[in-house]
Amino acid sequence: MASNVILKNVNKVYPNGFHAVYDFNIDIEKGEFIVLAGPSGCGKSTTLRMVAGLEEISSGDLVINGKKVNNVAPKDRDIAMVFQNYALYAHMTVYHNMAFSLTIRKVDPVEIHARVMKAAEILGLIPYLNRKPKQLSGGQRQRVALGRAIVRDPVVFLLDEPLSNLDAKLRGSMRKELMQLHERLNSTFIYVTHDQIEALTLASRIVVMKDGYVQQIATPKEMFDNPENLFVAGFIGTPPMNFLHGSIDNNGEYFIHESSGLKFKLTDHQQDIIGSYIGKEVIMATRPEYVFIDDLHLKQNSENVFEFNIDYTEYLGAYHLLYGAIGEENIISKVYTRQEIVDKKIKACFDMNNVHFFDIETTKRIR
Ligand code: ATP
Repeated sequence: MASNVILKNVNKVYPNGFHAVYDFNIDIEKGEFIVLAGPSGCGKSTTLRMVAGLEEISSGDLVINGKKVNNVAPKDRDIAMVFQNYALYAHMTVYHNMAFSLTIRKVDPVEIHARVMKAAEILGLIPYLNRKPKQLSGGQRQRVALGRAIVRDPVVFLLDEPLSNLDAKLRGSMRKELMQLHERLNSTFIYVTHDQIEALTLASRIVVMKDGYVQQIATPKEMFDNPENLFVAGFIGTPPMNFLHGSIDNNGEYFIHESSGLKFKLTDHQQDIIGSYIGKEVIMATRPEYVFIDDLHLKQNSENVFEFNIDYTEYLGAYHLLYGAIGEENIISKVYTRQEIVDKKIKACFDMNNVHFFDIETTKRIR
């Protein structure tokens, strides 16, 4: 499929000299749902605003549908943007809010009516067309903001934290609606969020950024299973990954955990790739989902059992989170059991097939 949006070595340096985005590169295919994720200040909104034309691109190329658009005005870029604060016109009805951008573009009124009605139908807004924004709920307002973008029939939808003003429950249902909307429109979406649940559930590919640098671009599954570096490993997934400091033994067979002195046996694959780290310090990382306490796993992973000192547990209905330590390092285990966990010291194990090792200097995953 042809690339729909290309960013090539895109940089942003603000007039005060602050370098907010470094060498951003991505090829986005038509119909992709790209989520830009990362902590506050990492440069995701700046990137989106450069695509929208609301911020000048300091260097690099932005190509939309085969045409370089660095110097094309926002209104001529074939994009539509949805903001966090909806930015609806308070004095206009829902209908006129949606029609407005087409009216100022002097689109034929018959065409405007058809497009507004179609968008209203897709978004379930037909009963509210004569209401003003203040007579709507937060979710309905967000839908009107989406409707304003849909009527434009843009090549690319740009969404900047569109759900962050909604309460948790509504966010959940709007996530589902956004997914369905994207499927129905089959347009390209670029979506900014700092919420990694939104990133995992919505994206066809996630871009994780930190301090203006892209850390990894991957599908949600790839990013969850194979994070490129320690930052991504800690950012994607709740609760976050467990990190253990230690070193590889001189035979390249075991990870020796520093603070407990315990040894964990590397898989054959890990022994193959660990070559240059023999005898060196590394970080071992594993998700809470792969720290087990049940008999079956303890038996299957008998070489990798340890004493888990539990500080406290959280009961979350279908599962428990166990917070504790191995040696002096804190770890979390997510266990699917309905039994109450009362012991403060229990046997636990790592499934080494689901463990990664990271270089302590570069923070990159060893592979
Ligand atoms: P948030 O989630 O808080 O919106 P973000 O990842 O979207 O964060 P940006 O808004 O892209 O972050 O900002 C990236 C960096 O650029 C921040 O450090 C911010 O302070 C800085 N920045 C943003 N706008 C300007 C500006 N006009 N001049 C100088 N620096 C700016």
